[in-house]
Amino acid sequence: MEKYNPMKYNNPIKCEVCGSLNFADDYGNSDKCSNCGWMACSHNEQMEEWHGISYPMLVPLSRARQQYLAGQKFKATFDDFINGLKFYAEMLFWHKGLWYSVCLVEDGITLENKFGKKNYKDYDDFRNNAEIDGILLSGLWDEVKHPSFMFCGDDNAFDFPPED
Ligand SMILES: [Zn+2]
Repeated sequence: MEKYNPMKYNNPIKCEVCGSLNFADDYGNSDKCSNCGWMACSHNEQMEEWHGISYPMLVPLSRARQQYLAGQKFKATFDDFINGLKFYAEMLFWHKGLWYSVCLVEDGITLENKFGKKNYKDYDDFRNNAEIDGILLSGLWDEVKHPSFMFCGDDNAFDFPPED
């Protein structure tokens, strides 16, 4: 007999964004919603209240609902991204086909890709001065793809952004 696995999506739930049928494991973490693509954890309202984000999607739940109703894809703002960094310490995004990681380190924040690394001394420095090829990150955020929490992968895992 197969051993019961609490990490499997055993439980029918209503998607907290679109209301469609989805499935969650015994800890409340859901599969990707087949209708809207949302993934839930068990406490996204609290996550928004406490941290201004959701997990694992990053976009806060109330804005995700608005984006869904407007027919938009879920995408975190630059401020959501910084809130995610405060919460999770390791973040990712893509720009023009390249991945960038943003990490909290002992003496500040690093913005890194396969070609180099820049350092910022704190959140304000990162928010105001982080740049790619001389253009402020805050200014080119519309071009940024898939801002997200860092995930594990092999050397080539970040070559292409995951599908939204
Ligand atoms: Zn949904």
